[in-house]
Amino acid sequence: MALVAIVGRPNVGKSTFFNRLTRSHEAITHDQPGVTRDRVYGTAEWNGVRFSVVDTGGYVPNSSDIFEQAIREQVQIAIEEADAILFMVDVTTGVTDLDDALAELLRRTDKPVFVVANKADNDERTWEASTFYQLGLSEVYPISALSGRGTGELLDALVKRLPARNGEAESDERPRLAIVGRPNVGKSSLTNALLGQERSIVTDISGTTRDAVHSVLKYYGREIVLVDTAGLRRRSRIRENIEFYATLRTERALRECDVAITLIDATEGLTAQDIRILRQAEELRKGMVLVVNKWDLIEKDANTMKEWEEAIRYRLPTWQHVPLVFISAKTRQRIHRVLEAALRVYENRRQRIATSQLNEVLQEAIRQQHPPTYRGRPVKIKYVTQVETAPPVFAFFCNYPEGIKEPYRRYLEKQIRAAFGFEGVPLTLVFREK
Ligand code: GDP
Ligand code: GDP
Repeated sequence: MALVAIVGRPNVGKSTFFNRLTRSHEAITHDQPGVTRDRVYGTAEWNGVRFSVVDTGGYVPNSSDIFEQAIREQVQIAIEEADAILFMVDVTTGVTDLDDALAELLRRTDKPVFVVANKADNDERTWEASTFYQLGLSEVYPISALSGRGTGELLDALVKRLPARNGEAESDERPRLAIVGRPNVGKSSLTNALLGQERSIVTDISGTTRDAVHSVLKYYGREIVLVDTAGLRRRSRIRENIEFYATLRTERALRECDVAITLIDATEGLTAQDIRILRQAEELRKGMVLVVNKWDLIEKDANTMKEWEEAIRYRLPTWQHVPLVFISAKTRQRIHRVLEAALRVYENRRQRIATSQLNEVLQEAIRQQHPPTYRGRPVKIKYVTQVETAPPVFAFFCNYPEGIKEPYRRYLEKQIRAAFGFEGVPLTLVFREK
């Protein structure tokens, strides 16, 4: 899936537009600049083309002295990482010095850049948008992120310029694993430990437009692709940009992998950001493995690991099925377990359950606990079938699909897991009318 970055100075309306594109209400628009937003990436769809969107607005440093530099650097990162760039400006202010500086950077890239003149809420302001042609960047699109005015033309033009497919080697039968996690949890260390230990062949399987560097390692004669290992390198002096870059790389690596190996740092425990990454992997329906790294730094006795496991599982109630491994990338303790778990999850994600078996198990489960009635009528599930693998999707055919609510959906998921495993694999259950 192609990646589109929204760049521009604060308050031009990036986050408002991002929300509109991704229809997510999680990114909250605040009036004052510099508020960290929880969600900066999302998926959009226009004319049947799906693409990822990233909003740089979530990464504005509060300190004003590095602020301009930070935004310039973000634009540079966006140029390197994205397939197309939406450069947002504000018709109510006209061209500012910072707009000029950003335009200068953007004029140097061959990637498609769209000048999005926002807050063109009416005809008069729409006319004023032509002033942005002075930025020297081809097409200017006046829009109103608030009302949606003008966004259709912009999106028509955008999706025409997106590469069809990006870096996803669908025909590649080798398991693709991504090692993800916050900065400094030990991703490079684990990657190097795995590559070093298993006498790997490090090859560049160059991505299409962007140079994703994947490494291939051999594990018991089987080739495994570690996705996007070059992404571990870039450094910045600005904390917000390190995060921004890390988020972009994580998003990309997740999209290109089959199984996401999320690392957490034992010395810091499970953090909110770790949970966000897990959620990201789950939303993309990737296989999941959770790894506690730097285990060598923890003082421990015979029970420590068990206690840690219980504490972590307690905080992640919906991810009980995700394998948990304690390792030290530094001493290499148990690092092969990471590969074992990831390959197990990889196979689980590809398994297909026969319709007869599935119905046997689920009809029994439904007999034991019927779905709650819907508007006074009984909800009847006629049959279920697995319609997709990798990621697995199960379709339940019933009289009132809208009558199945979250608790019952979860009950059914639990029954599938109890009967068929699917360790580490997010399951999708859809309900259709029959
Ligand atoms: P960001 O900092 O670039 O992400 O900007 P925000 O999305 O937070 O928007 C900054 C302010 O501009 C908010 O008060 C928005 O409500 C307002 N805004 C965003 N889009 C529009 C628009 O199309 N028209 C008008 N009039 N205001 C807008
Ligand atoms: P990345 O940013 O996630 O790629 O993290 P790095 O692999 O660069 O590691 C960050 C720091 O943690 C480095 O100083 C590593 O030497 C250290 N580190 C990584 N894994 C371990 C580990 O298992 N044990 C210890 N003690 N240090 C580690």
